[in-house]
Amino acid sequence: MAPATSWRPPFACIDVHVHLHPPRLAEAIQRHFARDGWVAHHPFEPTKVAATLAERGVERFCFFSYAHKPGMACELNRWVAETAAALPGAIGIGTLHPDDPDVDAIAAEATGALGLRGFKFHHSVQRFHVDDERLFGVYERAESAGHVFVLHVGTLPYRDPFTGVERFRRLLARFPRLTAIVAHMGAFESDAFLALLDAHPNLYVDTTMALAPAAGRYVGGDPATITDAALIRWQDRILFGSDFPLIPYDYDEERRWAWDRALPDSVRRKIFHDNAARLLDRG
Ligand SMILES: [Zn+2]
Repeated sequence: MAPATSWRPPFACIDVHVHLHPPRLAEAIQRHFARDGWVAHHPFEPTKVAATLAERGVERFCFFSYAHKPGMACELNRWVAETAAALPGAIGIGTLHPDDPDVDAIAAEATGALGLRGFKFHHSVQRFHVDDERLFGVYERAESAGHVFVLHVGTLPYRDPFTGVERFRRLLARFPRLTAIVAHMGAFESDAFLALLDAHPNLYVDTTMALAPAAGRYVGGDPATITDAALIRWQDRILFGSDFPLIPYDYDEERRWAWDRALPDSVRRKIFHDNAARLLDRG
């Protein structure tokens, strides 16, 4: 097999799961991961991340940071908007924290004046539930406006009270038309999350660290539990994501699995480009 750096998909990709943070937060996150023996080796500076992605044939990418406590979201969203404006192909996704009493105003600024496409929640890090009723106003407006939520609501790799399909089902029961991308294929409960796709036309999953064999030793998942048949069945609802630059291995390890599996080329094109283009380009 050719070395990872010389292999590349034969078409341009869209990556819906990239992490960019202001410098001090980026350093703190790197230190946190390094304590667990997880060293990314990729530069975290936004311009370098964008340059690497462009060089790897990524034409657009969604990126986000996160407010791990109240009082941060407003400033972070402004940083995300500024950063997105300065980087070709970058699509900024905001953050919120429900402990902020003005969460509705912060959300309105993010998707209004700042032009962000939606919000990313990382429930284990931010320590709130996806069906927290303090966010109902945000979800309600998002449902009609089509704002996108990227939700790390699956149990990979944390298995804590803030993750799991049960509360996500409750959220969808209340907001069935919400546009949401469940990160990491919903692992470790992929089957349960995938089963929700049929009844919810605006629901997606992303492939981030759930299908690359290289990811398993870091997050404990087993890509083999997600079958080719499942990828083919839900081929219109799966979006490529990478977790770059957090991943402690080469970027193309997050893409190569799809060429190692016996998938039709049309399915690869949907997962790595067309599905995200349709979602991001709609009105
Ligand atoms: Zn991530």
